[in-house]
Amino acid sequence: MSKSTATSEIAGSAEPGQGNRNGILCFVLSGWPASLQGRAAHALLELGVRLGLRFTIVSEHDRRPSQSTVVTYRFDGPGDLPCAWGRPSAIVRLPERTLWAPRDDGGAPDVVAGVAELLSGAHERPLVAADYDKLGRIKSERHPLAKAGLLTAPLVEAAAAWLGEQLRKTGLVVERTSQPWPGSAQRAIVLSHDVDGPRLQSPRTLLRYLGYGFVMGATDGRASFIHGALTRLARRPDPQWTFEQWRRLEASYRLRSTFFVYPGGAGAGRDARDPDYDPAEPALARELGALAEQGWEIAVHTGLRVRSVADYQAGCAHLRNAVPAAAISGARPHYWGRDWQSPTATWATLDAAGYAYDAGANPGSLGFRFGTSTPFLPSFVWRGDCEGLLVLPTAIMDSYAVKRTSPLPSPDREAALAAIEQAGAAEHGFLMLDWHERVLANIGVWKGFMAPLLERLNRWREDEEICFLTAGEAASHWRAHMKRCYIPLERFPAVQP
Ligand SMILES: [Zn+2]
Repeated sequence: MSKSTATSEIAGSAEPGQGNRNGILCFVLSGWPASLQGRAAHALLELGVRLGLRFTIVSEHDRRPSQSTVVTYRFDGPGDLPCAWGRPSAIVRLPERTLWAPRDDGGAPDVVAGVAELLSGAHERPLVAADYDKLGRIKSERHPLAKAGLLTAPLVEAAAAWLGEQLRKTGLVVERTSQPWPGSAQRAIVLSHDVDGPRLQSPRTLLRYLGYGFVMGATDGRASFIHGALTRLARRPDPQWTFEQWRRLEASYRLRSTFFVYPGGAGAGRDARDPDYDPAEPALARELGALAEQGWEIAVHTGLRVRSVADYQAGCAHLRNAVPAAAISGARPHYWGRDWQSPTATWATLDAAGYAYDAGANPGSLGFRFGTSTPFLPSFVWRGDCEGLLVLPTAIMDSYAVKRTSPLPSPDREAALAAIEQAGAAEHGFLMLDWHERVLANIGVWKGFMAPLLERLNRWREDEEICFLTAGEAASHWRAHMKRCYIPLERFPAVQP
């Protein structure tokens, strides 16, 4: 690594204590084919943002800005950073941390290539048809990171920490110049709710629980059916209609959440497993409008078959018409249902449809499908700027955290939850939870779902380093942080997703 000025370059490392204090860090992508530059630049962007540095990325040495500290990442020869692009990644266990990266000829981990692989979903490419379920999702226990025991490891954050260490070893001052979260908050937590069944008393829901409880013999299904039928007969309020209760509960913790709402029959053909309501129905539109007016966020819970730009746009438009007060900017698919084989194609579609963020990154279990606990910007590889689609990982969903419904046995589940919380507790940490709207009813199928959430909210309330944000707010803050860190000097050739 070397300190350079506009006219000359001092060979070797910078003097200790020097570095990017007065200038910026400049990553030079040297000798890269145009087809790979965008992906390499994206990985460097995500690493730099996680270190909170002020930095830029250029494709040739002579394009570096004056007063910059140059760090080369060479495709065609040895540079400052190890390069093993194109080789398969593997677990790299160091005394301090675990990385996911290919190794160069000298055995050093190439964290840039590892991060590029994780954030494009390329680590999932070795999977075969038998690793996917009937809805086309990866079976969580077959996920490559699950098999490596790394599903709850924040690997991209570990790569950034390793990079920061390497830079410091050469005498650079790796100064954090930007924090992502507002005020003095060190970490952000987002509570979100998928609205899958706001009415237990609807005939379809009652029939479903009747079959589940009395035909399939599930006691909790029976209890749900009986509660629904009795409250309906007695004309009592619907137990799963919990919007007002959520609002009061969250206000008592001084937080506002994000509700992901199914946009009804608009867009793609309905799937039988999709939720069964229309947000344009007056009572529901009123509730959602009241939430939006008081600062809660309304986002789109897309149906299982939605795949095209037109379908994503139709869903957003229908919800926007139903709830004019809502500023809709994000989406999450029902059942995590989407094109799992090509995550970047899904992100490109959401990006083209105008969404600012995707909250659908979850491995079907507790953990991080793309190896990162914090937001990332896949659209950089085809846009070359920080304006496109952000992905906000959702690490914890209610049923995965509850003993009765979790696929993980108790010790594994508790260990996974602890690892996720630890990742979220890091500097600039992020954690998003998904607690379904109807579980607040605390009856039948949803009995006991609130306990793991309330235990955490009670604990987090005491922590002054935490701020609670809606998903849309978290996306805005993270994007602003990216723009403070990354100084764009060059536009890389767009890589088509
Ligand atoms: Zn859902």
